Amino acid sequence: MFLFYSRPMFRAWEIVCNHLARLVEHPERAKTPAFQREWARLNLQRMEIQRGLGEISRSHAHVCAQCGHCCKGTRERDAFLDRVIQDPTTSLRKARRPEGTMVGVQIAQRENRLLHSGVPPVEGACRELSCQGCRVPNELRPMQCLAYFCGAAVRALSQEECERGIHLLKQLLRLQAQAVRLALRTRFERPPKQGAVLLPQNQPTDKR
Ligand code: SF4
Ligand code: SF4
Repeated sequence: MFLFYSRPMFRAWEIVCNHLARLVEHPERAKTPAFQREWARLNLQRMEIQRGLGEISRSHAHVCAQCGHCCKGTRERDAFLDRVIQDPTTSLRKARRPEGTMVGVQIAQRENRLLHSGVPPVEGACRELSCQGCRVPNELRPMQCLAYFCGAAVRALSQEECERGIHLLKQLLRLQAQAVRLALRTRFERPPKQGAVLLPQNQPTDKR
């Protein structure tokens, strides 16, 4: 069941939600302070879910360290929703990000939270992969980096971790649907009145 949620379900849902959100959003209204507050609320939930998935990942870190398949290849890992939820004002709003720095990395750099500083990068892999692991804190990584589990990874988990993982993946699927609804609202709703204080977008990281 975990594999079903983690692979075909998450992958298909992620593609659909990202394309829908990108096509329906109103890029300028989405950047208004009132909508920024709503993106920030989603971002807090997203970070909490990703921290939970990161905790589970510790149990199979040794399996992934030996394999390394998921971080191979230089394509970008972040999608539209990863960028806009973390920074609603980002200019990186196309489906692909062939250039420019991942929004999570921009935030980590600004807040001095990049991991494994000074450790050399891995050739032919994601730009964020160092020889000691990913440089991006769990809650700032693209969702797919935390949501993907293969059979070998799942076999390293306890029953309890599998159940928790399914619960968190369901939350992440729901959150993506909420993000599509919010993107739709930026297209059809006038932004609510401005003036309130923005919620903080990020929380302190857990390092691993
Ligand atoms: S999740 Fe599976 S395929 Fe990906 S790096 Fe870990 S062991 Fe390899
Ligand atoms: S962001 Fe980190 S976890 Fe995701 S693919 Fe790159 S190195 Fe791997």
